[in-house]
Amino acid sequence: TEEKSLHFIEQIIEDSLSGGFPQDKLRFRFPPEPNGYLHIGHAKSICLNFGLGLKYNAPVNLRFDDTNPAKEEQEYVDAIKEDLKWLGFNWTEELYSSDYFQQLYDWAVGMIKNGKAYIDSQSSEDMAIQKGTPTQPGVDGPYRNRSIEENLTLFEGMKNGDFPEGSHVLRAKIDMKSTNMLMRDPLMYRILHRHHHRTGNDWNIYPMYDYAHGESDYIEQISHSICTLEFVMHRELYDWFLDQIYDESKVRPHQYEFARLNLNYTVMSKRKLLQLVQENIVNGWDDPRMPTISGLRRRGYTAASIRKFCDIIGVAKRENVIDFSLLEFCLREDLNKTAPRVMAVLDPIKLIITNYQEDKEEWLEAENNQEDESAGFRTVPFSRELYIEREDFLEEAPAKFFRLSLGREVRLKNAYIIKGESVVKDAAGNIKEIHVTYDEDSRSGSGSEASQRKVAGTLHWVSIQHALEVEVRLYDRLFIDEAPDSHKEKNFLEFINPNSLQIVKGFVEPSLLDVKADDKFQFQRLGYFNVDKDTTEGKIVFNKTVGLKDAWEE
Ligand code: ATP
Ligand code: MG
Ligand code: MG
Repeated sequence: TEEKSLHFIEQIIEDSLSGGFPQDKLRFRFPPEPNGYLHIGHAKSICLNFGLGLKYNAPVNLRFDDTNPAKEEQEYVDAIKEDLKWLGFNWTEELYSSDYFQQLYDWAVGMIKNGKAYIDSQSSEDMAIQKGTPTQPGVDGPYRNRSIEENLTLFEGMKNGDFPEGSHVLRAKIDMKSTNMLMRDPLMYRILHRHHHRTGNDWNIYPMYDYAHGESDYIEQISHSICTLEFVMHRELYDWFLDQIYDESKVRPHQYEFARLNLNYTVMSKRKLLQLVQENIVNGWDDPRMPTISGLRRRGYTAASIRKFCDIIGVAKRENVIDFSLLEFCLREDLNKTAPRVMAVLDPIKLIITNYQEDKEEWLEAENNQEDESAGFRTVPFSRELYIEREDFLEEAPAKFFRLSLGREVRLKNAYIIKGESVVKDAAGNIKEIHVTYDEDSRSGSGSEASQRKVAGTLHWVSIQHALEVEVRLYDRLFIDEAPDSHKEKNFLEFINPNSLQIVKGFVEPSLLDVKADDKFQFQRLGYFNVDKDTTEGKIVFNKTVGLKDAWEE
């Protein structure tokens, strides 16, 4: 195993350890807001935080950042847990910011008493005007110097539900002239008369992310609170809120920022993914075209391939855009080692071997995976009438066509060498049947001289009378633009690929009779396919996971 160089967060941790920070005080968290399903971007943060936990033998909490009841739901909590487990990570504790609502409230009361927070009763428009701009300092509002008594009374009233939404907010009293806009008296609490998925109707006020996040880290004694680069400017505020409550005997959390994952040909904001779901552009959060963990899983991605991808892209401080093909590369590498090979025909044309006995059938030996000796062999039925892929035959073929044509020989995989003899056409002139002859002595693996004859190519096939009819869902990218949400004048929905899903009827070898959802195969010469959860007793449904070669480079 190769030595990997440390990424910058590991380097920070190594430095603090050598500076005397006790290793048993290291503690990390992954903090999703349960307002949507996890996506491949989250996987980067998950692999980073849980990876540090494994490397330093330190706890990693799963903290649901559930401070906005307007958007959060139990369904998302459950889905997030399922996805994390599937990715192969175990959290130390399952925690919720909402469990800290009382503590957060008490600290806020303390801050009011210390003159560090006040109730503002203006409209949000007025507050925004007073806030100024990045180049223009803000000005103090008329409520900034309310008495502590009045602030306490109002805050309690807000909590008890005495006031309508939007009538008051609690603001930190910091500096309206700070060069950092976020420090110009940021909101700490707003009134929301909403049902919360965990605290029900207990609360009429809910803390803002910036206040709740750092204080929750402190409650959990998180040593390294890792987030994405958009939060760089928030760090000053994160530290300010901690200053108000920090007790020297405790671990003081620090925020560190890394570059988020950006992937081309997709969108990753949960708000946009939700829009795709709600407008029925896709069939749910786990639609195989979605960049969600559940969508990738349903598409046939393996957890190992996603972890490998995160490992390859690494952790750095510079934003970039990763090619979707890198994710597919990691998947192909994994499936190549693990997916059994089978034969399937997705665009069938009938082939008749005129010199093969009509009632005869043979069960021929086929290797399951040449990359994995332990995968063994199976048998596949062979008979006089087969399906081959329509594009594998040309009546008049150029010299470099390494497939079947009239007068030319090819091998049928695991079977015999055949030679094109004639075609039968329908009234419209379309080929209905291809008639061939076979060389009886050329069976694969028979060791005969004829079996070793070199022919132009090898085709996959299925025996018509033995084949299973299945549904196959062929996917293309969901967006036709590399960066669908980067256009100023156009909405990302204008770049939806209208042909991202094509459903075909295919035929597969009978060894696939008893497949279960999530089983993965290589359909030889076609790509990797997995069994979809829509599969029922009478109907097998396959998803095309990925092709054998990179189709994105064309
Ligand atoms: P989005 O902006 O995509 O809707 P979010 O950041 O609001 O997602 P959270 O549930 O708040 O979603 O994120 C949980 C954790 O995952 C956070 O620490 C966040 O920084 C991280 N994360 C989210 N998106 C990415 C990404 N694209 N790359 C890396 N980490 C991410
Ligand atoms: Mg968020
Ligand atoms: Mg976000």
